[in-house]
Amino acid sequence: MKKWSEGRKMWVSVMVIFAIYAVFFIIFDDFDRSWRSAFDEENDLHLVIFSIVVMVGLGALLYRFARSMDERISREQAEKEVRMRRELTQNIAHELKTPVASILGFTETILDNPDMAEEDKQLFLTRTHSQAQRLTALLKDLSMLNRMNNAPQMLSRERVNVSRLFADVVQETALSLQRQQMTVDNRLPEDIIVYGNASLIYSIFRNLIDNAIDYAGKGTTITVRGRQRDDFWQFKISDNGIGIDSQHLERIFERFYRIDEGRSRTLGGSGLGLSIVKNAVLFHQGTITAQSAAGQGLSFVFTLRK
Ligand code: ADP
Repeated sequence: MKKWSEGRKMWVSVMVIFAIYAVFFIIFDDFDRSWRSAFDEENDLHLVIFSIVVMVGLGALLYRFARSMDERISREQAEKEVRMRRELTQNIAHELKTPVASILGFTETILDNPDMAEEDKQLFLTRTHSQAQRLTALLKDLSMLNRMNNAPQMLSRERVNVSRLFADVVQETALSLQRQQMTVDNRLPEDIIVYGNASLIYSIFRNLIDNAIDYAGKGTTITVRGRQRDDFWQFKISDNGIGIDSQHLERIFERFYRIDEGRSRTLGGSGLGLSIVKNAVLFHQGTITAQSAAGQGLSFVFTLRK
């Protein structure tokens, strides 16, 4: 069924109120009479005709107002979308420029200096390779976001064992965790089952754990909890690391929003991780919030529909 626009909803509600008003105060203004008697007396009949004319007139006026309100709302939405798309394109171009410029710079240096020492050549090639990897990661993240936003119907759903999937994430990140002297306190119940997209659910947990490893700081602990709530599973992933200032909390899910630009780029972050997490949660009809105070760690609470 087509969703009613705001203007139409307003028009219908006002007309219903009018109709109720007319029935109660004009036709039934004297409770001793039956409603038919309103049409017997000439004065009352005139009153009824008058109110119907007023109602039709007012209805037409209100309808025009509602239509123009609808048009304004959709115009503003379209303008906002164009603005957001333009900003996104600029951001993407900006993100692509740096690795592409580096790759060009390194390869040109190698090509222009055929007598370059083997050691230097290796160094330049390694850097070129890591910039190319960064580009690949960025393009992969962009394509995932694109798919979630533009073709969610293409993403399949199946029974996903989240407890097992999270155990895989911990295993795959074990080396990085060890390097940062970090531990994961896994308090998830066994066999949490969600009917969803396994690769998106993996991205949610993987991005949040990777971020904690990258930003929370050495020697910190990541705690992961899960509990059932009616149709949902609610998860909480928290670390006791550096946290972030409350002013950033609202914006960290935006594409390319970073708190420490330099640090994020050095670590190879695309600035899209939390945006992917949020979209993946929305795909599962869930919600996500972040809580933090500087120096007191960062927590994410999110839900996934069973
Ligand atoms: P990226 O990691 O690629 O920069 P994200 O969208 O994943 O992008 O994260 C956005 C920003 O949020 C990061 O740049 C980082 O500053 C901050 N952040 C994310 N997770 C944490 C965390 N666990 N502790 C502190 N800061 C974090």
